[in-house]
Amino acid sequence: MYRPVDESVIRRLNEIAGPKAVYTDEDTLTIYSKDETLGISHRPEIVVKPATSKEILEIMRLADIENIPLTPRGKGTGLSGGAIPVYGGIVLSCERMEKIVDIDHKNLMVITEPGIITGELQKAVEAKGLFYPPDPASLESCSIGGNVAEGAGGSRAVKYGTTKDYVNGLEVVLPSGEMISTGGKVVKDVTGYNLTQLITGSEGTMAIITQIIFRLIPLPKLRKDLLIPYSSIDQAAQTVSEIIRTRIVPTAIEFMERNSFELAESFTKRKLAFRDATAHLLITLDGNQQEALEEDQGKVGEICERNGALDILIATSPTSRERMWEGRKCLFEAANHFGSMYKSLDVVVPRSLIPTLIQGTKEISERYRMKTMCFGHAGDGNVHVLIFKGDLEDEEWEKRIDHAQRDLYKETIDLGGKITAEHGIGLLRKPFLSMNLDPHQIDLLRRLKKAFDPKNILNPGKIFDL
Ligand SMILES: Cc1cc2nc3c(=O)[nH]c(=O)nc-3n(C[C@H](O)[C@H](O)[C@H](O)COP(=O)(O)OP(=O)(O)OC[C@H]3O[C@@H](n4cnc5c(N)ncnc54)[C@H](O)[C@@H]3O)c2cc1C
Repeated sequence: MYRPVDESVIRRLNEIAGPKAVYTDEDTLTIYSKDETLGISHRPEIVVKPATSKEILEIMRLADIENIPLTPRGKGTGLSGGAIPVYGGIVLSCERMEKIVDIDHKNLMVITEPGIITGELQKAVEAKGLFYPPDPASLESCSIGGNVAEGAGGSRAVKYGTTKDYVNGLEVVLPSGEMISTGGKVVKDVTGYNLTQLITGSEGTMAIITQIIFRLIPLPKLRKDLLIPYSSIDQAAQTVSEIIRTRIVPTAIEFMERNSFELAESFTKRKLAFRDATAHLLITLDGNQQEALEEDQGKVGEICERNGALDILIATSPTSRERMWEGRKCLFEAANHFGSMYKSLDVVVPRSLIPTLIQGTKEISERYRMKTMCFGHAGDGNVHVLIFKGDLEDEEWEKRIDHAQRDLYKETIDLGGKITAEHGIGLLRKPFLSMNLDPHQIDLLRRLKKAFDPKNILNPGKIFDL
């Protein structure tokens, strides 16, 4: 179906990007054959690390002329297999493109290359009193281009939204070998279809993102972080519902059940506060007025107590805040570190239905007798559910996990939710897409993909088959 990468292609890639940017050795091919998604890998034929948009354009033109599949890659922290080159070919890593082009104070915008680590971009704009709010838990290791491609979320979505809410313009290379710029530094723009938002979240299947314009907001001056233990998951879930109902908008409301902070303790080798509680909430509030912030903190405290909070711990320094969040942020890394096999789900329901979703998860865990672990961004209705294989035989695991996933997806969809909130469809959730989108919608997505990529060479095999 595709042309293999042969000597002449390798020679052309060397000419375009320089020999130091082209890799065919086994070690590199192995590293770039996977991301952070457990249990899936596929070896590329070659890895290229271009340094400029122009090099990316030339590499894409070569892939188009020669009919070679090309998979864009950021930092490989994806959790749906998006950067895995299922048809081999070229992996194009943006990791060397990590320059911030301009922080524009006058227009409250930043222009950046895609390879910069998200946390580095955040620090750079914060040093200038500006704020880029999206904060995936992988912020210290993922790239901003990967965030745009995945439409990444994070804990601050409750108040500030997700990556898509900050993408104002893109420079991209199309699979057919042209470069275009969409959007710009303007605040309003209805000039033609909104390609910026179509490409954002397209999981590297429509275009290679070579430069991004983000809008920024002023950095809030004050912040409070609260850790609240509960003796039941239901009490924690009811607290989340009541906070939202009361129209207080915290920056973040994160949820962890007991077995997730036990896992975090083993990984960080630190004892977490309130370790005997059954569930924890982590709540962040921010703002610019001390009085208003304290008023919100008081109201949140009352709601927590009314719903059975055992205590409330308030972080008073950046160090105590970091320690408070450490346990929550490390959970995917911790689950991978201990080598147990699991499937990770990323379901989202309307926020008021979080208690029903968590109850449903427990019932599915009992129905299939498989250990589950729930944690995540409860304030925006997004729960990560890990379902563990334990000591099941492979065949039995495959059978049960398929049923368990389908049951949880059905429950989510019945509640008006979606099968992925922020990790994407990629490879992992491809078999379940048709549960959530009707055939007409999937057909329209296919036609859009074909309009961008008629030869199906950009990240083929992801989201759906053509
Ligand atoms: C510990 C941990 C915590 C996480 N927490 C969160 C979280 O809170 N919220 C969240 O949303 N995600 C989270 N993730 C998932 C992951 O970090 C995000 O999906 C992130 O956006 C991936 O960025 P990356 O640079 O690693 O991209 P990669 O994994 O390299 O690629 C992801 C996808 O983007 C495409 N892509 C990458 N760069 C480009 C480009 N320049 N142009 C076009 N396509 C491109 C790839 O083809 C692929 O389909 C977490 C992951 C881990 C391991």
